Amino acid sequence: MEKERTLVLIKPDAVAKCLAGHVITDLYNLKLKMIAMKLVNVKKELAEKHYESLRDKPFFEKLIKHLTGELHGKENVIAIVYEGENAVKKIRDAAGKTHPEEADFTSIRGKYGRVDSRTDCFENVIHASDSRENAEKEIKLWFKK
Ligand code: UDP
Ligand code: MG
Repeated sequence: MEKERTLVLIKPDAVAKCLAGHVITDLYNLKLKMIAMKLVNVKKELAEKHYESLRDKPFFEKLIKHLTGELHGKENVIAIVYEGENAVKKIRDAAGKTHPEEADFTSIRGKYGRVDSRTDCFENVIHASDSRENAEKEIKLWFKK
């Protein structure tokens, strides 16, 4: 089967809580190849481009504050590209549902995520591309040549 690539962002909540190592260990178990990785100080512009399709959602502003680290002490994001058979689905399954409390408790979001009752922020630990097409678009955005 053709190799597939996908983007993972370990979000500032996870970095601030020293959970990045645990997340990466969980992802190692999927036997995909890590082909790129970097620490990113995410600016508003990049966050807004990344979540462009959600611009009209009521939670958009908070989502941008989450990704830029504004809600977590200006912490960075760890961006990783994984490659391998069914990489998109494998990582989405390992991540779990968007809402951390609805996510299977063995998934990354189920294990490490929470909803902050003061900000209502879904501290859901990671972003994972949802299709092959979006993965390619997102990889271009985060890993400019
Ligand atoms: N999100 C939120 N409230 C919602 C839905 C989504 O705060 O009701 C945030 C959450 O951080 C999520 C991101 O918006 O990861 C992107 O939403 P999407 O529907 O793409 O979910 P995902 O693909 O991350 O599971
Ligand atoms: Mg999504």
